[in-house]
Amino acid sequence: MYAIAQIALRVHAIVNLRCRTRVQDFHPDEGRGSRGNVRVARHSTPDRMFRALISRLAPMSASNPVMVKNRILSMLAKAEYRRLRPSLEQVALHANAVLYEPGGAVRHIYFPNDAVVSLLYDVDGRRTVEVAMEGNEGAVGLAVYLGGVTSCNLSIVRDAGTAMRLEVKALTRCADQRGRLRELLHKSVHGLVTQIAQAGVCSRFHCIDARVARWLLMTQDRVGSRELSATQESIARMLGVRRSGVTAAASGFQRQSMIGYRRGRIEILDPRKLRAASCSCYGVIKRQYDSFLK
Ligand SMILES: [Zn+2]
Repeated sequence: MYAIAQIALRVHAIVNLRCRTRVQDFHPDEGRGSRGNVRVARHSTPDRMFRALISRLAPMSASNPVMVKNRILSMLAKAEYRRLRPSLEQVALHANAVLYEPGGAVRHIYFPNDAVVSLLYDVDGRRTVEVAMEGNEGAVGLAVYLGGVTSCNLSIVRDAGTAMRLEVKALTRCADQRGRLRELLHKSVHGLVTQIAQAGVCSRFHCIDARVARWLLMTQDRVGSRELSATQESIARMLGVRRSGVTAAASGFQRQSMIGYRRGRIEILDPRKLRAASCSCYGVIKRQYDSFLK
């Protein structure tokens, strides 16, 4: 926890220098799961994060059952998932919903199915920068698993979808039992540390074009689709760079038929070319997660 905070602060310093729903859950090996009611706080834009973090609580309507796609939960043996299932509830995460505020209590850990959550740090109270993103390959709220009781960053839903969530008490109890959950959570922490560390390297040494390509590929992996919901402005905000830099990068990628862009939708047309244009951070992070998610 302390180490993560140290790395995050280092990233912060570098950047500063430069610039609910009722549903059923289906485990792949199971078929049926539990029901739950969840309220999710909504947030307007990341820019106003420290002034109006939670705008309201809103119940959500019933939805169809969704398969558990989180790769950590999917890797648990059937018996272990059965032990965990009564404590899991599936939640729908709206875009811009705030899961954790800086300094706020962390009461749940989230295992995204198809949602993508950004971990953001404040820069002088004027802007934010993304230091990591978590999708179906990871979990959100890992700090609490390391002993932390509050969040040191803002966690906000960037791409809407669903997640499985677990209360901290249940997490501690379940992870202490025999099974793979503890091991997988430890490796997820390692993946998160890798992301945060690379964010520092990336913002200091890599050009904007390569960073934009890296961000698009990482998002594609977590959304599970080549069609992404993002604007040039939102990408600039996540990377902590000027919009003009992202516009120049995106225009170059479009000219080379790597991506298509229209009205806040980006389609990755040629992932191979885009990967060649990406910085090494993408491969470092991907290899880290792929090493235990297989
Ligand atoms: Zn990089």
